[in-house]
Amino acid sequence: MEHGESTEYGESTEYGESTEYGEGTPADDGAPRLTPLAEGRALLEAEASGDERAVEAALRPRSLDEVIGQERVREQLGLVLTAARGRGRAPDHVLLSGPPGLGKTTIAMIIAHEMSTPMRITSGPAIQHAGDLAAILSGLNEGDVLFLDEIHRMSRPAEEMLYLAMEDFRVDVIVGKGPGATAIPLEIPPFTLVGATTRAGLLPGPLRDRFGFTAHLEFYDAADLQRIVTRSASLLNVTVDEDGAREIATRSRGTPRIANRLLRRVRDFAQVRADGVVTRPLARDALSLFEVDEQGLDRLDLAVLSALCRRFGGGPVGLGTLAVAVGEERETVEEVAEPFLVRSGYLARTARGRVATPAAWEHLGLRIPPNAPFPDQAALFGVEE
Ligand code: ADP
Repeated sequence: MEHGESTEYGESTEYGESTEYGEGTPADDGAPRLTPLAEGRALLEAEASGDERAVEAALRPRSLDEVIGQERVREQLGLVLTAARGRGRAPDHVLLSGPPGLGKTTIAMIIAHEMSTPMRITSGPAIQHAGDLAAILSGLNEGDVLFLDEIHRMSRPAEEMLYLAMEDFRVDVIVGKGPGATAIPLEIPPFTLVGATTRAGLLPGPLRDRFGFTAHLEFYDAADLQRIVTRSASLLNVTVDEDGAREIATRSRGTPRIANRLLRRVRDFAQVRADGVVTRPLARDALSLFEVDEQGLDRLDLAVLSALCRRFGGGPVGLGTLAVAVGEERETVEEVAEPFLVRSGYLARTARGRVATPAAWEHLGLRIPPNAPFPDQAALFGVEE
């Protein structure tokens, strides 16, 4: 695949010139196929859909001061940027890691904005060949910010080219093939790479080491999410009272993208079924209509917990058996439902299988049977199935 034909986010684009990310995602991105139970899931998916990117753009904080939460990252990054501005140089390369929807793209854009430079956007999957990367790098101007999303999905030869570019601001373009091939060094102007990844652990050490500043974004607490909902509501011209905002926040799985999405659905409900003001009872009604429960669990999550407790006495049960019980693919249960259930302490993956925690029984309103197998420490630290 030649550069420019790339799928996913298209070729590198200058921020502001295009509708961000361009074309959306490819049909087969390895994500689990969704069956009916998982379909309603789009509401709680932490990744953005293609169309959503444009809506999100309006809600993005534009400066570090506008960013809510992530205090440590904000303070450290503020310092790095102020110092770079003082020196009149491009800041060090920045690596942003953390789950989807927590603000990596937002922060990358803020870096460019605060440095008053254009931002170019590309992503790991769009860079299949080193040549794709060489084309992007050679088009940069001094001080540009290059945002490389999903950096862990770049091809190995491109990765190696990136090491050199990050360190020496140079790429070696290979001309010809076989024994006659020659490397022609090409200078590139100093730039700042902002890499984003949901899987920092997959990055090879040498790549990670070339970032001067690494920030790990954490899930947001309910208070910060409530502030995010209130801020977004005012940008969307929706009236939300404090309790209404809190209700949306607590169902948002610690993720601003989900908070903003739930807010938009609640706004629709308020507009059609009520007088437009989002109160707590209204938010509750709206979100129960959309099948998002008090803790942010949806039908699929609840089906998994329910099968685990009601049919298998709390486990331990193998992933395959659990998947059959809810009529889903293994991958859907493992990749779509489980991460949040594990993170919220409802389900444990033990060496012997999946086990419900006391919180799961309570959440389903079930009495905990005296012989329920709780994940003991040893099992928790055992090897996953
Ligand atoms: P990521 O790149 O990590 O997937 P994004 O930067 O695209 O996440 O953020 C998703 C949405 O959440 C954006 O619309 C943005 O407005 C909002 N958002 C993320 N972090 C914050 C924050 N700290 N404060 C306010 N809004 C935020």
